[in-house]
Amino acid sequence: RWTFPFVIEEQAAVLGDAPFVTMTTGEGITYRQLRDDAAQVAGMLAAAGARAGDRIALMLPSGLDFLRAWAGIGRLGATAVILNSELTGAFLAHPLADSAPSVLIVDAQYVSRLDGLDAAMSSVRKIFVAGADQRPAGDMFDRWRSATALNAPLPGAADIACIMYTSGTTGAPKGVLMPHAHCFLFGLGVVENLGVTADDHYYVCLPLSHANGLLMQLGATLIAGATATVRERFSASGWLSDLHRSGATVTNTLGAISAFVIAQPPGGRDRNHKLRAIASAPNHPDHDRIWRERFGIAEVLGGYGMTEINIPLYGRRGEARPGTCGRPYERFEVRIADPATDIPVGPGEVGEILVRPCVPYGFMAGYLGLPDRTVEAWRNLWFHTGDAGRMDADGYVTFVDRIKDCIRRRGENISATDIERTLAELPGVKEVAAFAVPSDIPGGEDEIMCAVVPHADGQIDPAALAAHARARMPRYAQPRYIEFLTDLPRTGTEKVKKADLRERGVTVAT
Ligand code: ATP
Ligand code: MG
Repeated sequence: RWTFPFVIEEQAAVLGDAPFVTMTTGEGITYRQLRDDAAQVAGMLAAAGARAGDRIALMLPSGLDFLRAWAGIGRLGATAVILNSELTGAFLAHPLADSAPSVLIVDAQYVSRLDGLDAAMSSVRKIFVAGADQRPAGDMFDRWRSATALNAPLPGAADIACIMYTSGTTGAPKGVLMPHAHCFLFGLGVVENLGVTADDHYYVCLPLSHANGLLMQLGATLIAGATATVRERFSASGWLSDLHRSGATVTNTLGAISAFVIAQPPGGRDRNHKLRAIASAPNHPDHDRIWRERFGIAEVLGGYGMTEINIPLYGRRGEARPGTCGRPYERFEVRIADPATDIPVGPGEVGEILVRPCVPYGFMAGYLGLPDRTVEAWRNLWFHTGDAGRMDADGYVTFVDRIKDCIRRRGENISATDIERTLAELPGVKEVAAFAVPSDIPGGEDEIMCAVVPHADGQIDPAALAAHARARMPRYAQPRYIEFLTDLPRTGTEKVKKADLRERGVTVAT
């Protein structure tokens, strides 16, 4: 029963015409319509020769057709390959070739991006085009949703519900094989930790192609029988008015999303909403305070997780601790250990975050086509996240950094986050990314480089920045190189791609 296809059937029977999702543009879908549309999409796919267990890729904007396609693929018992709608060129060819879907469901506005990808799409037998009355010419293309409903047996908890790609922060995105129970648990965790009920209203502005938007927020909405307002694409200026208009009571945010909203000029509208809680990961301590003090949001609940391992840490309703990721969710075991030995470290000490599930199939089944990476992450019966954190005596965990992004210099472990926060205090600085670059002396120690983005209207005096660094940071943490950029390279989930910055190398010296 731990599958969303089952939840959709059950909620449709109980809630009927209650609204499930309303888009900020006005159109919406009820629980009953979601179930009926899912059966119709399943019928359409079956008529095209697709069967339970097949892979069906979808590349759609965050909207109702996305939900119909996702629910329909689940209804058939097939595996949804969820592609980020921003992908194009080689970035699109990789997951298409990697996942080898037999059917593709694509929005009309993205069809031209398939030109020239024939080799990557050699597995595709049929393409359904959504979002247009006219379908493109060609045998492969078919109209979206012109079939009779199919009511096949529902999939089981261990069946692979979907393949989602990781954000690609540290390299090429990896395809994660996600059983139904794993998908369901993303939503259940939100329900159980944030205390989401049928009276809640979720506001979703993160892409549905990642676990947070689809499985955590809309998954929790489904499980609780609540309602959600979805915006196709995040907008900092629209965020507050969406909240005001929808009456949303809960929403999820990411670090960069928070930064964009907080950078909006403060005003009387800031408290014009009904949010009782905001789930924030990363949960920057300054953001945490601003959400509560300026925006009057009663609870800021941290969390920590990844596509592979679900969300093993949650800030729990009524037990928030500012700036932390919360505590282990009891459906997981979490340990902080020495990355070299896997031996647990003491309270307050930094180590690698290790996780394992307490629920069958509540975890990824592996990386698609990368068995070595799967085995490499699973050692000593623990999944190695590659992230560094520390746990206090009460079990609250603070995220430190990705281990590969931790900077080691002059015998000190330096958190890039600490450097970034310190430099960002200087007026005129919009954002900072700190990372290690190789020394100019062969075999020498790594040096610290910072990419600094000034505010749109401002210029930063490099001398003032250097003086600020000298005054506020220990010598070993002060950057050797600073480069001014107009933007930081980011993933679809708004994370800074430090590997890209590191690869660009040192271009400007101070
Ligand atoms: P890739 O694996 O392709 O490099 P990614 O790791 O960014 O991309 P996701 O699965 O979307 O892909 O994100 C998981 C990562 O997000 C975690 O490994 C961690 O580094 C980061 N993260 C998760 N929760 C937090 C948090 N509370 N604070 C800071 N970072 C977090
Ligand atoms: Mg990752």
